Amino acid sequence: METISYEYEGSLYVNLTNKCDCSCVFCLRHNGHKGSIYADDLWLEHEPTRQEALEDLLSRDYANYRELVFCGFGEPMFRTDDILWLVDRLKEQVPNLPPVRINTNGHANAILGRDVTPELKGRIDTISISLNGSTPEEYCAVTRPRSGARAWDDMLDFARKCRDYVPNVVMTIVDKDKTQAEIDRCRAITEELGVTLRIRAYIPD
Ligand code: SF4
Repeated sequence: METISYEYEGSLYVNLTNKCDCSCVFCLRHNGHKGSIYADDLWLEHEPTRQEALEDLLSRDYANYRELVFCGFGEPMFRTDDILWLVDRLKEQVPNLPPVRINTNGHANAILGRDVTPELKGRIDTISISLNGSTPEEYCAVTRPRSGARAWDDMLDFARKCRDYVPNVVMTIVDKDKTQAEIDRCRAITEELGVTLRIRAYIPD
């Protein structure tokens, strides 16, 4: 049974797609992984329709969760329209819906060919964007984006635009293999953007 949503550390995580425009060196989708420490069977043989995802999400008791997180075994914002549709339906039907977060690589505007950030307003409480590096070279070496170095600028531009529409804009790096100088440069980037830097511990798969 494929996993559309799963619980992790008190939050409900939603998995809508395997698609991604990156090929990160650490991505759990490589090496034949179909699950992770979070849940088994995250690889979707067929992507759930928005209606199937809604049914799954409406079967949950939201009193149990501190956050609803769209992440996935791929880049969730390939399905931005469906995420926003789901959030609207949930806000209509779930009186105690917790804050909503999207974990993303920040390429949505480039992928979808339009600026989606205004559509996040009033729907998404936190957007967590993977910064992954302190220079375009470091970023591309780690994330191996389909569009090359342009993806770095796309990601920074997305973060900048999100500030106007999303209350909490967070950029994340993983501490493993980062020098202090690299971390300092990441901090300078996020300070210049006016967003929060979150340094995550590496979680081995
Ligand atoms: S952006 Fe996420 S889903 Fe895409 S390759 Fe990187 S880690 Fe994997």
